[in-house]
Formats: sequence, structure tokens, C-alpha cells
Amino acid sequence: MYKKSEQLLEQALKSIPLASQTFSKSLTQYPKGVSPFFIKKGKGSKVWDVDGNKYIDFINSLAAVTLGYCDKDVDGAVQEQMKSGVTFSLPHILEMEVAEKLIDIIPCAEKVRFAKNGTDATSASIRIARAYTGKEYIAVCGYHGWQDWYIGSTTRDLGVPKAVKELTHKFEYNSLESLEKIFQEQELACVIMEPMNTEYPQDNFLEKVKELTHKNNALLIFDETITGFRYSLGGAQTLFNVIPDLATFGKGMANGYPLSAVVGSDKVMQKVEDIFFSGTFGGETLSLAAANTVIDKYKNQNVATYLDELGQYLLVKLNKLIENKDLQSIFYTSGHPAWSFLHIKEQRKYNSFEIKTFFLQEMFKRRILTLGSHNISFSHTKEDINQLMKVYAEVLPMAKQHIDNQTLLENIQGEILKPLFKVR
Ligand code: PMP
Repeated sequence: MYKKSEQLLEQALKSIPLASQTFSKSLTQYPKGVSPFFIKKGKGSKVWDVDGNKYIDFINSLAAVTLGYCDKDVDGAVQEQMKSGVTFSLPHILEMEVAEKLIDIIPCAEKVRFAKNGTDATSASIRIARAYTGKEYIAVCGYHGWQDWYIGSTTRDLGVPKAVKELTHKFEYNSLESLEKIFQEQELACVIMEPMNTEYPQDNFLEKVKELTHKNNALLIFDETITGFRYSLGGAQTLFNVIPDLATFGKGMANGYPLSAVVGSDKVMQKVEDIFFSGTFGGETLSLAAANTVIDKYKNQNVATYLDELGQYLLVKLNKLIENKDLQSIFYTSGHPAWSFLHIKEQRKYNSFEIKTFFLQEMFKRRILTLGSHNISFSHTKEDINQLMKVYAEVLPMAKQHIDNQTLLENIQGEILKPLFKVR
């Protein structure tokens, strides 16, 4: 099933470390022997690998694709823009047009700066906060990208200077105490957090974080790289009605074209004129043309509502399946319907990576591309969800049976995933 993928993987490993530009698209996540490694094309909710296998894709380019692959309106706008050029020697008017649209839909946005990856935007937001407050320590919660200031706080910190690591402190979601403790010990410039990932905020957590942060003269930054253009038109800040000082967007904003943004209040964003935040491709117009159309489409076709409702349809069915088949000791769900998770619990006899390897093997075999989350797109249909449920109804009880009978490992046909650093 994956013959060509495997041949290409061996070849690519000779020229590209991990054979991928993105950690989560590499063999660190896809067990060798039972996974595809290269995608050839996509359309709507489907993708085809290099061996010609067709999948319903629930990863959607790590949640960067919210409308579906090859959206004709977005691609049409890009093609139109391409006729007059891509990157120029002076700014292009699209920068202002898209900035104005973001200001219109995102509550905290009074000023906007663009970049390419989510990491560019989160890193800029940290520099802005440090420049604005004159302080250096920061608190983080969730995943914020590959740069030193964040990744030094994880176990995958090789190459990050100790001096940088010391400035970053992690707190736990829904634990105000964990953040209070950091504030007691350090003068923080800012708190950067995913406003939500797996857990909903409990007991006005986001409001309390904001209050605590402001009481300590620090800035609150919401990293909406995923929640933006997914939870609602204005992101998680609209959904939960908590407005941060700065927020970062990326991923779904341009439906797979490379674009990110840092946005925020006039007063704070004005500091961007004093710091250095600049890139050759920051104003690249194809991605801006894509975002321009994505925003219109989100507005005109209520995309966020669709993602929410379809995701709910999925979760209701999946939770019922877990209950009816008595799978609660192994599987449970969490998250917002537009970005939900199927979690695997560690078992006495098997760790979660062993179970996950078996799970992925069986899901891929049945032509579902997943890493365990449901990143819903506007192209997914109820039929796609029904097909996913049909596959879950086969795979999840099978996993349980092999766990109960202690026959899991002999039923894994590939290499077992190695334990990895976890950020959510
Ligand atoms: N923040 C969050 C919440 C993310 O999910 C990601 C990407 N997974 C990033 C930041 C970094 O974005 P990028 O990979 O585009 O640099």
C-alpha cells in the first residue's frame, strides 16, 4: 500500500533530515511500515498519496486548511494576483486591505503586522511585549513555535542557550495558581497562551488570567494560530469574550498559503515602530490575496458555524460509540468541535505510543488520514464524518480487544512510535 512512499522516504532521508520540513509531518509521527509519507494532491476534504491511495483528511495540513484543499475562490484570487506579481520593492495595497479586514473581525485588533509562519508572529509578540514593558521574563501555556524563547521550555531544547531558557516559565491551563506562582517569583513582560486547546476554560479562567496579568503590569497575548479562523470569525477571543492585548494568527487564515499576523491594541502595536520586526516576504501578495478571500468566505458563508456544527455531529457520535462499546478505559474525546481530539490513555500493559501506532496503522489502512485530532474543514461533509465513524467502529473495539487479550504488539506491522515531547 505504501511502496512508493517508502522508497521516496529512503531517498529523501539522504537529502533532508527527517525527510520533512515540518516535525509533525515527519516519521516522528507516522510509524514506518504502516504509513504514507508523501502526498501528491488534495481536493476538498480528500488527499491522494504517492501510491494513489485516497484518504479523507482530518489533519488538513496541521489545521492550516479550513476551507478544504484547492478552494476555487481562494485559488482564483491567488491566480489573479499572480498575473501582476508576487513580492515587490515597495508595500502592496493588499497589506492594508487585509489588515483592515482583520481589524474589522478581531476584537483586540487595532493594528496589524504580517509575517509567514505562526512562529514569526508569536516571536514578534514576545519582542513587542518585552519592549513595551521593559521586562524580560515570560510565561507560556500551550505550543508557540520553534524559536528559542519557547522551545527551550520543552524537553526538545537541544541547542537553546541556558540564558534564554531561564527567561521562560510554563504554567498549566485552568490552573491560576500555577501562573500566580510564576508572578510571585518573576517580573513578567507577558503571558502568552493558547486561549484553548484540549480543555475548555473553567471558572472564568481566561478573565482571571487577564486580571492577574494586568495587575502585574504585564501584557496578555492569545496565541490564536489554530483557534483563529476556526472557533469563530474573531477567534477564541470572540467565542469567550476575553480580549487580550496582543494576538497572533496563522494557519487557517489563508487556507494553506503562508501567512501569519500579530495584531493588537493601537498603544501596544505602536511599539513595532521601535523594535526590529521585518522580513523580505512579509508582504508577499499571493498569501494576502488568499487571506482576503478566506475572510470574505468566512463571513459570507458562516464557515465557523459550519465547522462547529459538523464537529458536534462527529463528537456526539464518537462519544456514543465510546460509551456503547465500553471503550472509556482507553479512549476519550476533548476540545472544541472544530478542533477536537481523540485521546489514548496509557494502559498497564501498553504505553500510549504502542496503542497509537496500532491505531494509526488501522486508520490509514481504512483511508482516514489522522493524527488523533479532528481538524474540521468547510469541505468535510456528513458523509465524510459517517465514513470516519464507520472506521472508528471497527478500529477502536479492535484496539480494545488486542489490549484485553494482550495481543497488541504482534498485530503491529510497522515500527512503534518513539515517545515524544508533548505540548498539549
Ligand atoms: N502557535 C500555535 C498554537 C500553533 O499550533 C503553532 C503551529 N502548530 C504555532 C504557534 C507555530 O506556527 P508555525 O508552525 O506556523 O510556525
